[in-house]
Amino acid sequence: MTKLTIGVLGLQGAIEEHVKHIHDLGLQSLIIKKTEQLGEVDGLILPGGESTTMRKLIDRYEFFEPLKEFSNQGKPIFGTCAGMVLLAKEITDSNTIHLNLMDISVKRNAFGRQVDSFVTKLDVKNLKQPFNAIFIRAPYIESASENVEILATYDGKIVAAKQDHILVSSFHPELTDDNRFLEIFVNMVKEQKVDMVR
Ligand code: GLN
Repeated sequence: MTKLTIGVLGLQGAIEEHVKHIHDLGLQSLIIKKTEQLGEVDGLILPGGESTTMRKLIDRYEFFEPLKEFSNQGKPIFGTCAGMVLLAKEITDSNTIHLNLMDISVKRNAFGRQVDSFVTKLDVKNLKQPFNAIFIRAPYIESASENVEILATYDGKIVAAKQDHILVSSFHPELTDDNRFLEIFVNMVKEQKVDMVR
């Protein structure tokens, strides 16, 4: 069987860190800079960075429709931090809607200035040991529809969730040396691949 290939949208943000994690799990990576490359990957990571900048680049390089199409094919997408903002159907206090692929409403830079960035041990559903979660000017999920599975909360706020083939985290698993959160995504990609050949 050929190795799974996980793409990382390569327009802006923490790209290389995801690539390292993908390799650590023994998988192939592809930094996506052209829309055609989306056809070569089994799953896609939208990295953290700055969602407004990333959206501008998505429009400039005509990624918007190809990304929607990628999702319509049922291919898994994992959004970290700014990537989560891009996937949401709604952003609190804003009329902007980006990809609108997940039934969540997110609040940007939601933990306030005092705690701009922080690290905390987080209990994540299906992970036996807590995960060291790094939050950097992070958003949280203010509300989610019933079909969204909540994977982690911090201070009563949803910070990791899954809906069908889409996974999101407020924090940056790629900035730790713990691959377990990425593994959750890789398992989604594997399951999807099996479904496709059925
Ligand atoms: N605050 C950023 C945004 O809303 C996200 C920060 C991050 O990805 N670390 O786009």
